[in-house]
Amino acid sequence: MREKIVAGNWKMNNDLAETEELISKLKLQMVKEPEAKVMVAPGFPNLYPTFQALKDTPVIVAAQNMHENESGAYTGEVSAAMLKSVGVTTVILGHSERRAYFHEDSAILKKKVLTAINNDMTVIFCFGEELEDRKNDKHFDLVEKQLKEALFDLPKSAWKNIILAYEPVWAIGTGETASPEQAQEMHKHIRTLLDKNVGKEVADSTSILYGGSVKPNNAKEIFAKEDVDGGLIGGASLNAVDFVAIVNSF
Ligand code: PEP
Repeated sequence: MREKIVAGNWKMNNDLAETEELISKLKLQMVKEPEAKVMVAPGFPNLYPTFQALKDTPVIVAAQNMHENESGAYTGEVSAAMLKSVGVTTVILGHSERRAYFHEDSAILKKKVLTAINNDMTVIFCFGEELEDRKNDKHFDLVEKQLKEALFDLPKSAWKNIILAYEPVWAIGTGETASPEQAQEMHKHIRTLLDKNVGKEVADSTSILYGGSVKPNNAKEIFAKEDVDGGLIGGASLNAVDFVAIVNSF
């Protein structure tokens, strides 16, 4: 069964005090057992305090990135073991900002995914086309390439730990959203690719989230589409009222 998931990516926002304030507001706003699985991804220094503050709730704490090696001389990097030692077993990989500003390509992402899987972590794998690709009608091919290069060699057993997040780059932080029909069209394409390349069971059971300017006023329509299983939320996840409204949009 595909899970409904809403994940908030807090990016490089909020110091410790601001993080604690946002968590307090979230705890006040959120019902005890939301219909969707809820995740939040604070910056590295705030992972442990967030984990501690949310451990009596169903909210899962995720990291925004992780290094592909297990340990060693990689100054400034964070390993899977470090994350797990502070209670974090979910990681966002392949976000378009990591791809664009930190040059993370499919080869690196493939290693990161494998390292996460080998450490029994859950991966929220992000991918999606740029505006130019869509204008040139290359968006379906581009998405296929991103998935093929990073994920389709994984053993079938790994897929129980993979959540996909389709995030058209032109819709991230821009206020521009893919229409519910555009989201559904791509999500269906992704599910067909899973079926073809990995198998029907995985296609039927993998959650595919949509990300790109999801707000309380458009979440319901997008989440209502057959192949959309929830959302990865950037800007709106920094506001507890908005985020909880999105969580409640199923
Ligand atoms: C994101 O960064 O993953 C994202 C979807 O951002 P926003 O919701 O702000 O477009």
